[in-house]
Amino acid sequence: MNDSVFNLDQQNSSVDAKIVVGLERLGEVFRTLLWQQSRDTGLSPIQIQVLLFLTFHGPEKRKIGYLAAEFNLTKPTISDAVKVLVQKGFVMRIGDPTDSRSHSLQLTSAGQQIVHQTSDFASVLSQVVGQLDVSHKTALYESLFTLIYGLHQRGLITVQRMCKTCLHYQFDGRIHYCGLLKMPLEADLLRLDCPEHTLL
Ligand code: SF4
Repeated sequence: MNDSVFNLDQQNSSVDAKIVVGLERLGEVFRTLLWQQSRDTGLSPIQIQVLLFLTFHGPEKRKIGYLAAEFNLTKPTISDAVKVLVQKGFVMRIGDPTDSRSHSLQLTSAGQQIVHQTSDFASVLSQVVGQLDVSHKTALYESLFTLIYGLHQRGLITVQRMCKTCLHYQFDGRIHYCGLLKMPLEADLLRLDCPEHTLL
C-alpha cells in the first residue's frame, strides 16, 4: 500500500506516480464531460460513444463484435446499447448481402443530429491543448503514443489502429515510415486511428 501512487508521500517523490495520477485526472474529465452530454441527450455515455464511433468509421467496423472489442465490453452489453439506439430511431441495421447473419450499423438522420450536438463534448480539452506550444504538443503526443502502445501490449487497450501495429509501418531506429503512404512520419504524423491501418 505504501508504494501506491495515491499515497501522497510516494506520489510526491516520484514523477512516474505523478504522471499516473495526472492521467487519472484526465480520465475523470472525459467521464464528467460525457455524463454532461448524457444528461442533455438522455443517452448513456456508451450510447454516445457508439454513435460517435459509427459516424467516423467504415461499415466493416460498424458491427456489434467490433464495437464490443473497441470499447472493451461484452457483445450483450453493446447489443443492449445498440438496441436502445435503434428503438430511439438513431441507428438502423443494414444487412450484409453476402451473409444473412451479419449486419452493419448506420446512423439515421436523427442519429446524425444527435452526433452534431454531442461530437464536440471534448472541445474544452482541445482548447487547453491548443494553448501548448508546438514542441510541447509534439513531445506530449509522442509520449501518449508510447503509453498507448505499451498498454495495448499489456492487453489493456484491445483494438488498435495505430501505426505501430500496422503492416505498413517501418522504423529503422531513427525514422518512422509508412510503406502505404510512402512517406516518413514525423512524430506528429504518427496516427492513433488510421483508416488505412492493416493489422500486422
Ligand atoms: S497505413 Fe496508417 S497506420 Fe499504417 S503505417 Fe501508414 S499511416 Fe500508420
